[in-house]
Amino acid sequence: MSALLILGGTAEARELAGALHDRGVPVVSSLAGRVAAPRLPPGEVRIGGFGGAEGLERWLVEHDVFAVIDATHPFAARMSASAFEACASAGVPLLRLERPGWRERPGDRWMWVDDVASAADAVEGIGRRALLALGRQEVAAFAGVDSTWFLIRSIGRPDPPLPPRHEVLLDRGPFTVSGELALFDEHRLDVVVTRDSGGDQTVAKLDAARERGLPMIVVSRPSRADTAAVTAVAEAAAWARAQAGRSGSQRVLGRRSAGPR
Ligand code: NAP
Repeated sequence: MSALLILGGTAEARELAGALHDRGVPVVSSLAGRVAAPRLPPGEVRIGGFGGAEGLERWLVEHDVFAVIDATHPFAARMSASAFEACASAGVPLLRLERPGWRERPGDRWMWVDDVASAADAVEGIGRRALLALGRQEVAAFAGVDSTWFLIRSIGRPDPPLPPRHEVLLDRGPFTVSGELALFDEHRLDVVVTRDSGGDQTVAKLDAARERGLPMIVVSRPSRADTAAVTAVAEAAAWARAQAGRSGSQRVLGRRSAGPR
């Protein structure tokens, strides 16, 4: 049966899959398979890479996909580039669902950098004890920094090489401001390094840094292809239902109309 593909791995993707599943839109969620025990979305799930844009294009055709929503993390740039290329080649409509970035507020002391390498260059001049809140694949950029101690917090074990002076804390959000303040104090942190991931799950460190007056090094989001984009799950769900209606793929659930309400 024809289905909509959600490229996932985020809370928004799970929420969207749930909303569409409830409305009778056939959905397949795709996860990269990086996390050992991922939080699974409702509905059908497939796990693992497609084999680049060409592999994804083949998958779209073989599985009769009528539309794709790229709801991957703001820093998952390779998957988004593949989705853009594959959908253009296969003639499949594509929408990007991306949570808004964080905005500086009064009292914040942020330094924006373009990438993690620039964050690694900057950190030694700013702090002696840093919270490194990045993806586990990005910690290696700090391997050459030896005068700053790092508390490396990530969901999965960070990929080596790691900086010489560090402690690893395996944890995932949502985090609370009081929890972040306690962590800052316990480890005597004086700088926070983060990416502009956006969203509520990990925003507490921003509030805690403001409260303690700590500087933050914030890595900007990677640039993306010019895909139509929305920021809210409800907007993406409405788009998906319209695409399903066009392709005749939406089931009628019981006596309830499956159309937009
Ligand atoms: P990436 O660098 O953009 O992707 C690398 C490769 O992983 C892609 O080329 C693709 O392999 C595969 N892949 C990525 N997302 C996939 C998906 N949803 N379904 C199937 N294959 C996928 O991505 P990443 O930064 O490694 O992130 C991997 C996944 O974790 C993403 O789904 C993302 O939403 C989630 N995530 C990432 C972060 C982060 O910090 N980057 C944070 C939270 C969640 P092929 O080329 O073989 O198709």
